[in-house]
Amino acid sequence: MKAGDALDGRVRGKLVTSLYTQPASLAIGAFCGVGSAWAVTYYSANPYLLGATVLLTAIAVLRVATATRLEPDREDRDAKRLELWYEAGAFSFAFLVGAIAAATISLDLDPGVQLIMVSYAIAYAAAIAARNAGRPMIAIGQLFLALLPLIIVCALEGDVVHGIMAVTTFLLLPAMVSITFNVFDVLRESIAAAETSQKMADKMRDLARTDVVTGLSNRAGLNHEMVEKLMTMGDKDKLALFWLDLDKFKEVNDTLGHPVGDRVLSEVARRLREVAPDGATVARFGGDEFIVACDVVSRAASEELATRLLETISTPFRIDGELLDIGTSMGVALLPDDGSDLDAVMQGADLSLYHAKVNGRNQISFFDASMTRNLMRRKEIEAELRAALQRDELSIFFQPIVDLETGRIRTFEALVRWFHPEKGEMKPDEFIPVAEETGVIITLGNWITTQAAKAAACWPEDVTIAVNLSPVQIRAPGSALGILNAIKEAKLDPSRLELEVTESLFLDDNRHTTRFIEQLAAEGVRFALDDFGTGYSSLGYINKFPFKKIKVDRSFVSGPNVGRKSDAIIRAVAELGSQLEMDIVAEGLETIEQVNVVRDAGCTLGQGYYFSRAVPDYLAATLLTQERQKDRSIRMAG
Ligand code: C2E
Ligand code: CA
Ligand code: CA
Repeated sequence: MKAGDALDGRVRGKLVTSLYTQPASLAIGAFCGVGSAWAVTYYSANPYLLGATVLLTAIAVLRVATATRLEPDREDRDAKRLELWYEAGAFSFAFLVGAIAAATISLDLDPGVQLIMVSYAIAYAAAIAARNAGRPMIAIGQLFLALLPLIIVCALEGDVVHGIMAVTTFLLLPAMVSITFNVFDVLRESIAAAETSQKMADKMRDLARTDVVTGLSNRAGLNHEMVEKLMTMGDKDKLALFWLDLDKFKEVNDTLGHPVGDRVLSEVARRLREVAPDGATVARFGGDEFIVACDVVSRAASEELATRLLETISTPFRIDGELLDIGTSMGVALLPDDGSDLDAVMQGADLSLYHAKVNGRNQISFFDASMTRNLMRRKEIEAELRAALQRDELSIFFQPIVDLETGRIRTFEALVRWFHPEKGEMKPDEFIPVAEETGVIITLGNWITTQAAKAAACWPEDVTIAVNLSPVQIRAPGSALGILNAIKEAKLDPSRLELEVTESLFLDDNRHTTRFIEQLAAEGVRFALDDFGTGYSSLGYINKFPFKKIKVDRSFVSGPNVGRKSDAIIRAVAELGSQLEMDIVAEGLETIEQVNVVRDAGCTLGQGYYFSRAVPDYLAATLLTQERQKDRSIRMAG
């Protein structure tokens, strides 16, 4: 169907509607007609007229009854049949009115009786031509059926008076036809104009709900579609919400420019649309986040679809001959399983997405209730952490890193400790991630570096201090300067500061990180790669950045996965370290056996409870003094 046809169709629909919108005028007209006919029957006592009047009454009653039941918007067959009956009724009513009026003249009834019926017939014909102008053919049909019997009978009477009557009534026909068409045109035009402005408004609204880059729905469009979906959802239906966040979009956008970024987004949109089932909502939720929402029959079906969505985005993108690997993380929540309203399900999907990202990206995470509990806990920790910073509840402990050949302490790693007045000791593994998410880590990290540098300044010059840096802290503006200030303030030689970073740092942003490392390395600050073996363990980073040290994660030393394989890995890393003149630290050494294993494997340094737990600054200083005293007594004995 062409757009014009669609418009005409809607206009026609509205015109038809106009017929049914005034049941009162129909009822009054019918009442007057029936009343007049009964008056005629009463005064004429003619059995034929009685029959016609009874029939007219029956039709009138039926019409009024059907008119009140007609719903013009209905498109089904019943509605169409009802309409047909309505038309048949209209024509037969008009004809009977005309016929009875004509009969009063041809039977030469009392002039008063003639006057009642004839005036009704003419009034009816004139009124109906205007009233039903929305459908001119019906109006004109009724006009002719009501007036033609009268005109014919008057003409047949043969006298002048009836002749005049025949002519004037006849002239009413073209006049009323023209009025009918006039009214029809005015009606049609005003309805069409209203339709056009409605269409404009629809178009504007659609634009406001569309994302320009991808042509998908935007946030507003998504909201609208979701509300509509929820309204039509049955009790047994399930709605699945897939929330995607592209893993490496920022990188592409920063290095290859926005036009390429836009093309990636469009291609992502195209792929999502292709994979999403018919009727699914696919929206871009700003930036590099997308949402797919659709009905699913079961949780299993949503898992299957999630996998397909992930796969389609994981396939590399070819843009301008370049092959780009974008990848995505995804959070999934179901309604009603994971939440009873839209907000709850959105929040569920968002939380699951967060989990997918934290667990290493490029994966799907389904909502479960523990995520909400974690969220509450995180919010609580955030508030308390801010307060703790003000109230000095935090302190720094120091854990020695020991030379495996000589047994001497070479470094202390600064580890933050939080003693909560009511809850006791809080684990860094729990509050550091919260501090990272909320940005509190920036203040906290500066404080830690300053304190650690101050403590180290009091130690012998060959002992260094290692400080853990979180990626968030490094990405903050002025991060390098903050660290240089901290060591300057503590009067610590930059070469005595070691910064421990993890591979997750290299995942997102590159230029800033590179500049940070280069700037500090130029000042003499050293870098250590922490938790090696748990992440991507890419040799690329080791090659690119000036690491002096690699810390092999403690899962290679103790725990369920330790065995021949982990041993071989430690050996390989140690070999790499000796070739590149880097220290290799084994973390988490708790027993002498573990110490022997990693030493034999070639690790140069060790850290763990076997040597010492993290201790407060005065104990760290004591450890160093004892060590030096022991040295001295050995030397004196020797
Ligand atoms: P990490 O950098 O790998 O720190 C070593 C963690 O292993 C410390 O836990 C330490 O207490 C623990 N550890 C040391 N020896 C052993 C051992 O023999 N056996 C076992 N089972 N564990 C051992 P902690 O202090 O709970 O810190 C956990 C993580 O929290 C750290 O892992 C680090 O990622 C983060 N963190 C701690 N302090 C800071 C800080 O000041 N700044 C930042 N950004 N992160 C910190
Ligand atoms: Ca560390
Ligand atoms: Ca570590």
